[in-house]
Amino acid sequence: MEVARLNACVNLPVSDDEVVVNSMLGWLVRWLRMLGVRTMYSPNYSDADLLDVNHLLVTRDRELFRRRAGLSLLLVTPRHVEWLSILSLVLGFPLMLDMGRSLCPVCGSKLIRVGRDSVVGKVPRNVLLRHNEFWVCTGCGKVYWVGGHHVRINRELEIARKLQVTLSTQCVDGNLLIIRG
Ligand SMILES: [Zn+2]
Repeated sequence: MEVARLNACVNLPVSDDEVVVNSMLGWLVRWLRMLGVRTMYSPNYSDADLLDVNHLLVTRDRELFRRRAGLSLLLVTPRHVEWLSILSLVLGFPLMLDMGRSLCPVCGSKLIRVGRDSVVGKVPRNVLLRHNEFWVCTGCGKVYWVGGHHVRINRELEIARKLQVTLSTQCVDGNLLIIRG
């Protein structure tokens, strides 16, 4: 079953230091940034902007995919966690969370690691007492820490890794199909 396709039969992973994600894929944007992938996203991009952009375009819009000349990835499966498996296959990043590599899910800027003293008054008191390490976004200032939500994140990534081993590729009519099973 086809879960995604690229509009060229390229070798994977593709070498691109940044991807552009179509609107309606905000979930994917946050995850890619968390996993350290530089990801451009704006709900305000027009189709004309997206046709011209000089990075891998990730979209669910078949019409846009058909019209694009530049390298593009069409996500066929509606299953969010499988999008991560596919993007990891295409871009070659590990499906493991490493805060040292993460970018801010909200704005995409770099994070810097800081101690507890730097975030007093910026995080809830119980969080401050329980954690020693924090990361601050150099763009928007949002503070992150490895908390209970990481259990859920790691569970999702484990599912994505299991799905990924079932994926294979096949070149058909100049498109690289990504197939499950
Ligand atoms: Zn930020």
